[in-house]
Amino acid sequence: MSDFTGTTAVVTGGAQGIGRAIADRLAADGADVIIGDLRDPGDLGDRQRYVELDVRSESSANAFAGACGDGIGVLVNNAGIMFEASIAEQTTEQWDMAMAVNLRGPWLMTKALLSRLSKRSGAVVNIGSIEGIGSNPLHTAYSASKGGVHGLTAAMAVDLGPMGIRCNAVAPGWIDTALNKAYIERLDTRDVALAELAMLHPVGHVGDPADVAATVAFLASEDARFVSGQVIVVDGARTVKLSLPPILSPQR
Ligand code: NDP
Repeated sequence: MSDFTGTTAVVTGGAQGIGRAIADRLAADGADVIIGDLRDPGDLGDRQRYVELDVRSESSANAFAGACGDGIGVLVNNAGIMFEASIAEQTTEQWDMAMAVNLRGPWLMTKALLSRLSKRSGAVVNIGSIEGIGSNPLHTAYSASKGGVHGLTAAMAVDLGPMGIRCNAVAPGWIDTALNKAYIERLDTRDVALAELAMLHPVGHVGDPADVAATVAFLASEDARFVSGQVIVVDGARTVKLSLPPILSPQR
């Protein structure tokens, strides 16, 4: 456990999924957490409050920042969207939307909250993706935006370090959220899909939102005071496992 007593933390996209797990973890560790999201999740804990936010919009980001007040210790840029489309089918509006939420969003939120972030002990954690390192099919916009988040993290660490603000990113692999469950549940071969997914991961299973939240808590904490500009992969070793043809794999 980290100790965030007396710290105010902002989590974008914190109404559900990974963002909610981060908001719950930081609150459990003593932080007062402000959840910014398109819609009110409703069922918040004592240390959590909701403020409406659309990370695509500068006026929304600035209004949100005003509602947060000063002395923000931790900013977690988590809000993100994903869609599947070939380059031929994809519209420029879809591309722009992915960039506006996934890449410009973290930049805009950091800009809006900059004057309110604690100097000497502020921490920004961006949620990237293993798809900022590799890619799944039909994910050009998503992968490009997440690769951009990793680059943005390095640039923010360099620019904000002199102000005492550290910036890191977490790159999750397959995390069991509503978003991913929908992929599996629509299949007739659900059990086969789950077994094959587990086989992709040397640890033998997919990730839980709490696994990402634990890494965010470390990066946001004083234990990580000399860690900045890094992308921490949380994927059960999926991306370091080299592929073999199934017939040659000892773990078939
Ligand atoms: P979810 O779709 O479950 O949650 C995302 C949240 O962000 C939702 O509450 C959503 O609101 C909100 N949101 C979307 N657009 C905006 C916006 N413009 N302004 C404010 N809030 C917004 O996703 P996950 O929890 O699965 O993903 C969270 C992050 O983790 C994303 O950045 C994603 O790319 C990343 N990630 C997820 C992985 C996974 O396996 N799940 C793997 C790697 C990275 P609403 O529902 O109303 O749209």
